[in-house]
Amino acid sequence: MQTTTVTPDITQLTRLRFVNAFLVREDDGFTLVDTTTSGGADGLIAAARSAGGEIRRIALTHGHGDHVGSLDALKQRLGNTVEVLMPELDARIHAGEKVVEGKLPGQWPKLKTTPTTRLAPGDRVGSLEVVASPGHTPGHVSFLDTRDRTLIAGDAYTTIGRTAVTNHFYWRFPLAAMATWDKSKDLESARALRALDPAILVVGHGPVVRAPGPALDRALTEAEPS
Ligand SMILES: [Zn+2]
Repeated sequence: MQTTTVTPDITQLTRLRFVNAFLVREDDGFTLVDTTTSGGADGLIAAARSAGGEIRRIALTHGHGDHVGSLDALKQRLGNTVEVLMPELDARIHAGEKVVEGKLPGQWPKLKTTPTTRLAPGDRVGSLEVVASPGHTPGHVSFLDTRDRTLIAGDAYTTIGRTAVTNHFYWRFPLAAMATWDKSKDLESARALRALDPAILVVGHGPVVRAPGPALDRALTEAEPS
């Protein structure tokens, strides 16, 4: 597990070189945003303890396997006191409901864990504000740290190589576009996230981007359908 200090309140945890989760400090311990692929539970719990706290809640940007992969194992180890928060539509998809027409791209693994809370835009998770950013998946959300405007953008953007919107293929990380459900909604969400004017951008795949305005503007220009 590679750890990167993003802000005094947020630590990025990276597995397999390109899959990120985040520890977000709150008064009672940590919110873990995303869980990486399977096999990460012990490392994520150890990272929280070495950062000085326990994981109190797990908030998910979306339901894909490289974000919910260690959820069941974490729930098993942390017990029923841990709260699990998943965006409404992705939780319904995991519950077996057909919420959109046609085939959903990306990997949707079978989960034993039922979320405690279904997230809606505008909800608060400790210091984080839930921001709608559908497109990569139907329910995809991002999290804005209201303390310092750090944005956890999930898979709306990737930053491997450079900042890119996941609505189109970018050779450094084509997987993200392959897994994207609705490319025009994804681009619309990417624009809305840019409009939040984040101070720092972190994402599911790729390094931290500080003062990301120019990188986001260039990524949006490149993402326009030609
Ligand atoms: Zn994804």
